[in-house]
Amino acid sequence: MEEEEKYIKAGKIASKAREKSREIISKSTTYLEAAEKIEAYIEKEGGKPAFPVNLSVNNEAAHYTPNQESKREFKNDQVIKIDIGVHVDGYVGGDTAYTLDLTGENEDIVKASEEALQNALSMVKVGVETREIGKEIRETIESKGYKPVRNLTGHGLGRWKTHMPPTIPNIEIDKKEKLDEGQIIAIEPFASTGKGMVKRGTYEEIYAYERKIGTRNRVARKILEHIEKEYKTLPFAKRWISKDFNQLKFNFALNQLIQQDSLISYPVLKDVAGSIVSQAEQTVIVEKDGCKVITE
Ligand code: MN
Ligand code: MN
Repeated sequence: MEEEEKYIKAGKIASKAREKSREIISKSTTYLEAAEKIEAYIEKEGGKPAFPVNLSVNNEAAHYTPNQESKREFKNDQVIKIDIGVHVDGYVGGDTAYTLDLTGENEDIVKASEEALQNALSMVKVGVETREIGKEIRETIESKGYKPVRNLTGHGLGRWKTHMPPTIPNIEIDKKEKLDEGQIIAIEPFASTGKGMVKRGTYEEIYAYERKIGTRNRVARKILEHIEKEYKTLPFAKRWISKDFNQLKFNFALNQLIQQDSLISYPVLKDVAGSIVSQAEQTVIVEKDGCKVITE
């Protein structure tokens, strides 16, 4: 398969997983059950998760995925951002998200990020300045009475890479950067009732390989070997690997790897308490006169 075909295949699987996730969530009691089923579906379809399924709730904008002990249940006071990533042979061609409103009272903010995404997509073509896309996103979201989340952005995708240039901002920025033909990019507007700015929370379950270190801890070496082989530089969930180890030794080794910057962590990102954040995301290939949405 050509590189582009692999991106397109990954995009297609991500799209199918996104639609399947609606059914899975409606039939699941816990977040853990839903996340595991969505991730299993991705594998069944011939892809692999490019990152753990994110199921961030209310003021959590991103990076919440249940851990092995999670008892979080679906409830009717929740607005959930379902964010799914898929790779085929390392080619991350699917990064797509939508917002599920279980409250029945937040359809408006769900639409705000969706409309911002549609407006942004209609602008994509070779030569367009990314800041112009950001401006359109900001204006669409503000016209609905919400704030764009300004420190979260869309991004390029690559082989074993979930984030690379160009950055697709959710506001206009000073930096001038234009889109090039053939770039695989994800656009992801976030609308918020809070400050439009996310901060790192304390909860974390997602990590990625950063650099090799020498360690005498046998478990730490085994964990690193496994990560390098299975995920390379892609983010993974602690729950994906912890099952194969003695829990006490695993946690000790993992903490050592984090402290020595061998692994980086992706803590949950939140807007202020009590706020609601919505997200919509699609992955596209930039073309001369437009774009091809590969997660449609
Ligand atoms: Mn995403
Ligand atoms: Mn993304």
